[in-house]
Amino acid sequence: MFLFPLKIFSLLALFSFTFPHTSSSTAAGGDGASVCIIGSGIGGASVAHFLRRHSTNHHPKILIFERHAIVGGRIASVTIGGDAFEAGASILHPKNYHASNYTNFLNLTRKRPSSSEGSFSLGIWDGNGFVVKTLNLKSKWGIVNKIVSFFNGVSLFMRYGFSLVKMKGFVDETVNKFLKYYEGVETRPVFESVEEMLKWAGLFNLTGKSLKEELVDGVKLAPLLIKELVTVITRVNYGQGVNISGLAGAVSLAGSGRGVWAVEGGNWQIAAGLINSSDVELYLHEEIDSISYLGEYYELNSTKGNAYSCEVAVVATPLDESSIQFSPPVSVPVRQLQHTHATFVRGLVNPVYFGLKAVSEIPELVATIEDPRLPFTSISILKCYNETDMTYKIFSRQAMTDALLDSIFSVRKETVQINWGAYPHYKAPEKFAPFILDGKHLYYVNAFENVASTVETSAVAAENIARLILSRFFGKDSSCPSAIKRTSCSSAEALHSDT
Ligand SMILES: Cc1cc2nc3c(=O)[nH]c(=O)nc-3n(C[C@H](O)[C@H](O)[C@H](O)COP(=O)(O)OP(=O)(O)OC[C@H]3O[C@@H](n4cnc5c(N)ncnc54)[C@H](O)[C@@H]3O)c2cc1C
Repeated sequence: MFLFPLKIFSLLALFSFTFPHTSSSTAAGGDGASVCIIGSGIGGASVAHFLRRHSTNHHPKILIFERHAIVGGRIASVTIGGDAFEAGASILHPKNYHASNYTNFLNLTRKRPSSSEGSFSLGIWDGNGFVVKTLNLKSKWGIVNKIVSFFNGVSLFMRYGFSLVKMKGFVDETVNKFLKYYEGVETRPVFESVEEMLKWAGLFNLTGKSLKEELVDGVKLAPLLIKELVTVITRVNYGQGVNISGLAGAVSLAGSGRGVWAVEGGNWQIAAGLINSSDVELYLHEEIDSISYLGEYYELNSTKGNAYSCEVAVVATPLDESSIQFSPPVSVPVRQLQHTHATFVRGLVNPVYFGLKAVSEIPELVATIEDPRLPFTSISILKCYNETDMTYKIFSRQAMTDALLDSIFSVRKETVQINWGAYPHYKAPEKFAPFILDGKHLYYVNAFENVASTVETSAVAAENIARLILSRFFGKDSSCPSAIKRTSCSSAEALHSDT
């Protein structure tokens, strides 16, 4: 997720339309086929969108099931102190082209992420003091802000030297390879596995090594930069240190660049808008607990006892903490989710906690290095109402207790806590689940999440799943390269390889 100076959120805006739940078996409709999608996050919403966009000849019935009362999944908002903030995915990268196209298509408005997600002062806290602290001066004079920004750049350069340039080169190279996934469908194959998809773009090798190995042995970064700035970024973005894979690490570092953006009114509107515009039957508050292949079709059963029949089933949620039962069983590599506790506080941080005299001395984003004694990953200002009244977001690996919060905050008017099963626990070499779970028509979008967890990577994976369905089930895919047979758009001769 491209989110370094991250912004936080507010939870759960109610989506405006729901469809009645059915307790009977749903017959296939439209041109004779139904596609059932489990999950209304950006992955599920994007599958529906691309099924419509890439298919002119077929108009299958699309059903989306969502266990919660709202759509969006890990794109959500939280309301604190009367204001809404991003609670999950908060920042989009300037080269997130699907997210950008969605935003235009849905007539949504972009904005700069608030406060510490844009330009901000940074402090790296080691438990005893700030090992890095950039200037915190804000002025109404643009020239003054530019000088402060220049000074901060120079001081970071003095500390980390040309390693900063090398780091940027590594990130740019990775992002440029990722851009291959936006090539026209005439030249871009449909991929049957995550491994094929990564090899085609020249990204597979980056999943075989940890970020630390990649940066030390390959990029030859200064150890201090890895220990401090790089670690801080991966911790803030993925709650994990530099042992995550090189590819997840590069994605995480990319989010610390310039030009990040968000959607005015909440990023969740992207998922909602895609569902709303894709002629979908949406079932809210409908948790699917089993998927059974009954020959020619799948039967989905919900916890409420409803049953649905579909010729194609798409799982658009991580299976790692899921209780969905498959018959026959499916096999996916064991993967743990990293839990991130997001705590939102309206109040005021106590400068004494950081050994400082005044609140104004505390950087807008305080991030910590890897040390098990440190009780939080980051504290950032979301909104400053006045000098004594602000809204903050705290990320931590464990839940923040009241006692701990009271030691950090001198004033706490309102507190909201969310425990996210946030993203995979990354570990190189990564093992990937199959896109096609049963060799038939049961698909898994979040197999791609071991590459990296972002809005954009979900969208890229979802587009590929939509094309797979069109080529494998509907028997033709106008988007396959013409020289490649429809059932194997990912045939070997179409692939580039980096192995
Ligand atoms: C705190 C946090 C910050 C983040 N920041 C960023 C960021 O700044 N930028 C960025 O790009 N990415 C960010 N991410 C990552 C990003 O949010 C995710 O990668 C992305 O939203 C995943 O989308 P998805 O559709 O694959 O899964 P999800 O959003 O998890 O959607 C899955 C949906 O399926 C539903 N579901 C699950 N099981 C069932 C069932 N059995 N039946 C019915 N419904 C079910 C769930 O309720 C959920 O709505 C962040 C994530 C977190 C947690």
